[in-house]
Order: sequence, then C-alpha cells, then structure tokens
Amino acid sequence: MKTLAKTKPEEGLWLQQTSVPEIGPDDVLIKINKTGICGTDIHIWDWDEWARKTVPLNLTTGHEFAGEIVELGKNVTDLTPGQRCSGEGHLIGKESRQSRAGKFHLDPDTRGIGVNEDGAFAQFLRLPAFNVVPLPDDISDDIGAILDPLGNAVHTALSFDLLGEDVLITGAGPIGIMAAAVARHAGARNVVITDINADRLGLAAQVADVVPVNVGQEDLNEVVTRLGMRQGFDVGLEMSGNQAALDQMVEAMVMGGRIALLGIPPGKSPVDWSRIVFKAITLKGVYGREIFETWYKMIAMLQNGLNVSGVITHRFHVDEYRAGFETMKAGSSGKVVLDWT
Ligand code: NAD
Ligand code: ZN
Repeated sequence: MKTLAKTKPEEGLWLQQTSVPEIGPDDVLIKINKTGICGTDIHIWDWDEWARKTVPLNLTTGHEFAGEIVELGKNVTDLTPGQRCSGEGHLIGKESRQSRAGKFHLDPDTRGIGVNEDGAFAQFLRLPAFNVVPLPDDISDDIGAILDPLGNAVHTALSFDLLGEDVLITGAGPIGIMAAAVARHAGARNVVITDINADRLGLAAQVADVVPVNVGQEDLNEVVTRLGMRQGFDVGLEMSGNQAALDQMVEAMVMGGRIALLGIPPGKSPVDWSRIVFKAITLKGVYGREIFETWYKMIAMLQNGLNVSGVITHRFHVDEYRAGFETMKAGSSGKVVLDWT
C-alpha cells in the first residue's frame, strides 16, 4: 500500500510502498478515503527540534482521517465491515487513575497515531476498535477528515457556557475559525476573532457570522466599544499560541472572565500573572478532545446545523501531496484535505 512517511531525517515526507498492517484481535483495519493536513504534520515535515526528538524515523504520518472499515479483529463484535468512520487518534492506556475514572483524554500514557505510532497518511490504517467513531450518512468523508481539529475547536469552545456571552477568539487558523462557528452555534452574543493575517480573517467571516479584527491594523478596544460591550469579553479562546495575543486577550476580558487555552506557544513565554490574579480570571488548558464526549457533541451539532465545510479551502490527490503541504506552509489556507482513493 501507499503511505506518506518520514523515511529520511530531513525536511519533507515521501510516498512509499509498504505492506498493509496486520491487525490484532481488538483492532480494525480502515481503508482511508480522505485525510486532513495538520500543523503537527508541518512540524514533522520541517523536521524541527520537537519532531526530531518525538517522531521515529520511517513513521507513517497523519492523524486526521475518514475511511471505511474493511476488516475486524476477532474480538470486535460491535462494528461491521463497510462502516464509514473517523476515529480518535490518541491511543490511550487503560491503567492510569484518569483512564480508570473514564477521563480517557487525561491519560498520561497517551500515544498519538502519526506521531508516535504509524498513522493515517496511508491507504490502510490499523486502529483499536475502541478508537473508531462511526460516521452517520449525512457527514461526508471531507468533514470526517477534519473531525480531529473540529474536535479541538469544540472541546475548547465548550469549556465554558457560551449562551448569551461575548466571546473573543485569538487566532483565525482553521481551528480558531471552526471554534468561532461553534461559539455562534452554541448561542454566544458577539464572537470576535483576531489575527494579523487578512486572508484568514476573510475566511473566518465567510465560514461564520463573526466580527474579524486585524489586530495589526485595528484597535480591539474600539471594537469592544462599537459592539456595545460594557467591560469586555466574558469568554476567551486562545488559538494562536502567540504571546501578544494572550496578553491582548487578558486585557480585553471582563473581571472574572474565563479563558480556555488551546494554542501552543513555541517555548516558555512571560505572563503578567498579577493581571490575571487581579482580574480574577479562570484559565483552562485544553488538550485534544474529550474521549468520546467531544465526538458525540460535534457530530450532534453537525447534524443540527453547524456548518464548517467552508474551512476546507484546498483538496489534492495524495499523489500531489507536495502541493498540499506547500499550501499549508504558506499559512493562509484553511484546511487542506488529501484524497487517497
Ligand atoms: P494556525 O497556526 O493555522 O493558526 C494560528 C493563527 O494565529 C494564524 O493564522 C496566525 O496568523 C495567528 N496569529 C499569530 N499572531 C497572532 C496575534 N498576535 N493575534 C491573533 N492571531 C495571531 O493553527 P491551528 O491549526 O488553527 O491551531 C491553533 C493552535 O492550536 C496552534 O497553536 C496549534 O499548535 C494548537 N493546537 C493545540 C492542540 C491541543 O491539543 N492543545 C491541538 C491542535 C492544535
Ligand atoms: Zn491535527
């Protein structure tokens, strides 16, 4: 089968032919139809410091996928061949206190497909049946291939009650844009999204009913006044990983505001803790998706009018994967989806 793998310790990924994985008794084999390219895949492509110390050579990359079950391990009784599916790419341990308490997304022994274990940039993926999320007929393979990052957006956005609240999202990358759509769907009053990239703000305004603000050119305080918010934002979703964005968010929050942090800063960064203390702000770090509550919620919302399809801006056949990665690396696209069929 064809896979996209890190076969050399240098920048790039390479298509290779390898054998179809053998599945264990608790696994399924999934024929991959569509995959999404993630920022993580770009780190692996670039072979940066994080990737060099995390990703084993010859690994098949990729973790955002939609496909179809083609084979069941002998212990798997609740799935059927032919079932369309996506799936959770975090492979959890079952031993930790958190796992045994059912908080699977907090398991410290988690390993990621496409990062620590062979992933979904392949014609076939082996996955524990536990991780499979069946796709209803009304959810396309394109959307199935971006449920992983939509799940990041949903997990972060639903961290706090949004009904009637004013929400600030910093970072109009694909995840920030999807979070904006989710915040609207969840009943927020004003949803403001910031970035310094005009293309991405334009895309945000196309995908969701939000107020885009280019913080390189506009004053966020003026927007707060224009929208008639009295003190600032009730809820903040940090989705840029940028220090200046977090500082600006803290300043723009109401007293007692709540902030969920998804963006990953490149290293240690200074934080003005006294501002956070005196504003009595609640901070919540967000990792991955709640397994499987986030999956349940996002599929339910997609079936109930949440529309994020506009966030997919580019589609390529896997044989043109280089163009797909170049599009992602240019930093102005939405989600880029690769077709494996
Ligand atoms: P992305 O890099 O595509 O988007 C980030 C956006 O932030 C970019 O458009 C960038 O222009 C913008 N930005 C930069 N400086 C800014 C500023 N000062 N103010 C406002 N915006 C600014 O990323 P993405 O794929 O959408 O992911 C969002 C973030 O979430 C990334 O940091 C990513 O690493 C992180 N992430 C975390 C998890 C997790 O489990 N915690 C999972 C997936 C992604
Ligand atoms: Zn991802």
